[in-house]
Amino acid sequence: MDQNQDRPYWNMEIEPLLNTPAMRETQLEKLLTSLAWQYENTPFNRRRFDKAGVKPGDIQSFDDFARAIPVAGQAEIRELIGEIGLDFNRLMLELFGKARMDDLYLLTTTSGTTGIPTPYPNFHTAIADAQEMMCRAAWRMGLRPENHHRIGLCFGLSMHAAGTPQVLLFKNFPGVTIVPIGAEAGTEKILQFMQLFNVDVFLGTPSLALHLIERCPQVLGRPVKDLGINIMILGAEPGAGIPEVRHRLETEYGARVFDAGAGYGCSCEDPVYQGMHWIGDDYCHYELINPETKEPVPLTNGATGLMAATSLHPQGAVWFDMRFTLNDIHQVFTDPCPCGRTGFRYKIVGRADDMLKVKGVPVYPAAIEGVIHSMPDKLTGSFRIVLDEPPPRVVPPLKLRVEFAEGVREEDLPALEKELASRMHALLKIRPAITWLAPNSLERAVKKTQILEKTYEK
Ligand SMILES: [Zn+2]
Repeated sequence: MDQNQDRPYWNMEIEPLLNTPAMRETQLEKLLTSLAWQYENTPFNRRRFDKAGVKPGDIQSFDDFARAIPVAGQAEIRELIGEIGLDFNRLMLELFGKARMDDLYLLTTTSGTTGIPTPYPNFHTAIADAQEMMCRAAWRMGLRPENHHRIGLCFGLSMHAAGTPQVLLFKNFPGVTIVPIGAEAGTEKILQFMQLFNVDVFLGTPSLALHLIERCPQVLGRPVKDLGINIMILGAEPGAGIPEVRHRLETEYGARVFDAGAGYGCSCEDPVYQGMHWIGDDYCHYELINPETKEPVPLTNGATGLMAATSLHPQGAVWFDMRFTLNDIHQVFTDPCPCGRTGFRYKIVGRADDMLKVKGVPVYPAAIEGVIHSMPDKLTGSFRIVLDEPPPRVVPPLKLRVEFAEGVREEDLPALEKELASRMHALLKIRPAITWLAPNSLERAVKKTQILEKTYEK
């Protein structure tokens, strides 16, 4: 292991090669081996080959692979449950195979906000792989062995995939101590423990981090800045990528704020949110897919699609084992990042089920939100999408009601409208009709803001 604390990456052998042709060759080699392994070891995936009428040996390129094996996701899992019933042991054997189930160490679930919880098995091999990813991410987010970080783990610990496993994931990063507090402890205990154990890295959701700003003076009698949190690693919900949220957390805590998750990635130190750098090329083949036609979408700068992934080390894979999707829509950025670090970047722009179609062009409300949040000096960030007919089809132009920021004058609005419309067109290929609203005219929701205004329901 390279001992230089100033080196740009944790893994100086692999990370400089991310997203290069040399890495692509390695990936293909690993893909072919992985597909053979899937066919031999995972009943669910073997059936996918059989159904497609192909054998692993028929696949010789990424292109062959994309053409041969259709994407799988929650619908296919539901189908399987329909066949075999809710026998979880059997379900997991079908999905992951005996070899992996024999390697099972920790059994958690995905957050499963609706319906039955989805098992999230943590295999020994998967944990080892995730430990390497966490070391890479931690290094990029500014953790250093010499600083002997104390990480306050504030995700829900009980059964949550984002919680308990994190206790193990930092194990190979020298000098780190984990303090597993858990969201269940409640804000008072969280604040007390963070103070007591000198936590300097916060690991949890952005909404909890925001909530602690208000609670800290009440509980500890001093501002949250006094806790001495230097680094905040946020996940499980959007926040670190929203300029206002990030700015508020950075200012109130006096910390650097990072986004991590939804695959192998983390955001970088650039002052403007650039998305998360994908840092797992050697472990996972990342793809974008047109959510309707299921055709592959080339990874060009700004491209949007359904994210699907295939493990290149299937013994360690959990859900992203073979062209599997969790129904998240990503946008990728392949131009070099101002931070200078390797790995293409991805932003989560929404769920496939939220899609609107404007003259045949797929548009996601969260992507519109992203553009609006990219102009924090001129817009407050609050807006609505007005739908006159049930989605997804929208007769153009897409109608937006947008709040301009304090300090924007009436006479600035035509130029601002031009700027916003041209950004929307450059990034999302739409030319919306904008109605301006004064700052604070739209209602602020505490939880999730409903940004669709459905006039057809009124
Ligand atoms: Zn960057």
